[in-house]
This record gives sequence, structure tokens and C-alpha cells, in this order.
Amino acid sequence: MKTLSGPSRDAQGAGGASPAMPRTTRTTNGGARAQLKHKVLRLLYGLKVVRVWQFLCQRRKLSILCYHDPDPALFARQVAALKAHFNIIALRDYAKAHANNTVDQLPKYPLVITIDDGHVRNFQLLEVIAREKVPVTIFLTSGVVGTNRHFWWTGVDSEDELDPLKSAPYAGMDLHLANLGGVREAAYPTRQALSEQEIRTMAPFVDFQGHTRFHPVLPLCSMAEAKDEIAGCKKELEDRFAFDIYAFSYPHGRYGAREIALAKQAGYACAVTVEEGLNNVRANPFQLKRMYILDDAGPLEVVVKASGLWTALRRLCGRSALGVQYDV
Ligand SMILES: [Zn+2]
Repeated sequence: MKTLSGPSRDAQGAGGASPAMPRTTRTTNGGARAQLKHKVLRLLYGLKVVRVWQFLCQRRKLSILCYHDPDPALFARQVAALKAHFNIIALRDYAKAHANNTVDQLPKYPLVITIDDGHVRNFQLLEVIAREKVPVTIFLTSGVVGTNRHFWWTGVDSEDELDPLKSAPYAGMDLHLANLGGVREAAYPTRQALSEQEIRTMAPFVDFQGHTRFHPVLPLCSMAEAKDEIAGCKKELEDRFAFDIYAFSYPHGRYGAREIALAKQAGYACAVTVEEGLNNVRANPFQLKRMYILDDAGPLEVVVKASGLWTALRRLCGRSALGVQYDV
């Protein structure tokens, strides 16, 4: 989601009741805390703790990163750092390996890069993706990309305004848009998402997958709405671009047993969440964990987080990995 600042709050697990925190860049009021965090990250990195941790705990576990709208120049530096520490593999290769029961044959230190929503600036990542030949999966909001429609949550000034909308039934987003004088399908002078041509240009280098049609909070949808969002997204992307859509990303990280069943029924082979953690060989392919990467995270932070070490330290310090969860 777009940048919104505000206080942290506890978030839910799968299909929970309260909305997650919408933030893709760090807030500006945490200067001292951010500096301390950076010092800790540098210390961990400098002391080779990350390397030792990786050898002991991540060698055979898949790390999946969750981006949204990373800065292209910063993304290039992050990719360089990640390539030095991980074997970046395609999500499709993981899905195939899981289906064939050969996950243990994947390269050591496997890592998958995913990006949610289909933000317009993602097109600027193409240069580094092509140059570095790095596999990347972008989960598209099929009803927004290729149009001048806006992501429904943009235009909301604060989380106080956003939360009720995300706690309301599916109509919440429509209600918000109506209050702004618009409708879900309204076209605006500027676009927020990738254009159809940009998607086609990126397609030889990028694995495009599904993220619903309009990015609702799925557990708040009726059965018919949820089915349309999950299966309809797959059909739209396949019909429009002839993509092979096999993977799904739950919007806002919100899902439950019904959403898993609908994803399976629609023909997806796997789905990703925003629950933090590494994925071992027994991971449920429809509940794959991801490491949330803020759009402005430095390369060091990305490497430490991708290794799973940061999550482990947070747990060790008594903070649940789900204690700070972000929106997607
Ligand atoms: Zn999203």
C-alpha cells in the first residue's frame, strides 16, 4: 500500500478481526530508534552473525521478501547485497519443487523476491531486473493495473480514517470512494498502477501473478465477492495477458480457511501471506510466510531481515513476529 504514517498497532493473524498497519516506508518520528536499529544491524553484519545464522538456520529454508514500491536505485543496491548472501530463485521454481516433493533439492540459501500491488514505479525496476537477471514476482491488482483507476485506500489521510473502512464489509471501499465522489471503476487523470504496455514490456523478465481484482479485505467479503476477487483476478490476467497465473497474494495479509479453499478451487498452486518467517520443506504452500521489506530499507537491513535473524531476535526479545505487521 501507499505510505501512511501513524502509530504502530497490533495486527491480526490469519483472518483476524482488526486491520493491519498500512506502512511501506519507515515513519519519521522514530529517529533515535531507527539509529539504534541501524547500529544493531551493522553490528550483526560486521560480526558475521548473519553468516553464522544463515549456515545454522536458513541454509535449507526459503526466505520470501515482500516489497511494494521500492526506490529503483535502492532496489539495485539491495539486489546486489542479496545476491552476495542468497541464491535468488523464482517463485515458480519453488512451486514446482513443492509439487514434485523436491524442495530439498533447491539451491542452498534460497530466496524469492515478490512485489505486491503493481505500482506504477515498479516499471523503473525493469532495468536492474533485466541486467541482473534476477527473478521477481509481481502480484497484480488486476482491476487496477492497465487503467487510470486508483488503489482504493489512497486518498485516505490517516489510519483513523482507514481502519473503519477496512473493518467494514466489502462495501467499505466503495463507501469511501463514494464519499470522495467516485466509484471503484472511476478513471483519474493520473494512474497509480502499471499500464498494460508496461506490463507487456516487463513480462519477459518478470513473473506476474494475482493479488485480487480490487484489493479488498477478503475475509470481509461475501462468498460471491471473494470468489470473484480470487478467481476473477486469475481469469482477467490470463485472458488479458495470457499469463500462467499459479500464485496468489492475500491483500492486506488477510485470509482464512475460506480464502485458502477458494484459491485452491480457482487453480492457484500457492499463496503468500505477510506472516513473518522462513519456509521449511513442510510449509503449507497456501500459507507461505514472507519478510516484509520497507520501501526505503537499506541493503544491510534487507539482508539481515531476509536471513530470518531479525524476526528471531524480535521473538527472543519478547515481541511476537506478528506484533508489528504491515499492510499489503
Ligand atoms: Zn497489496
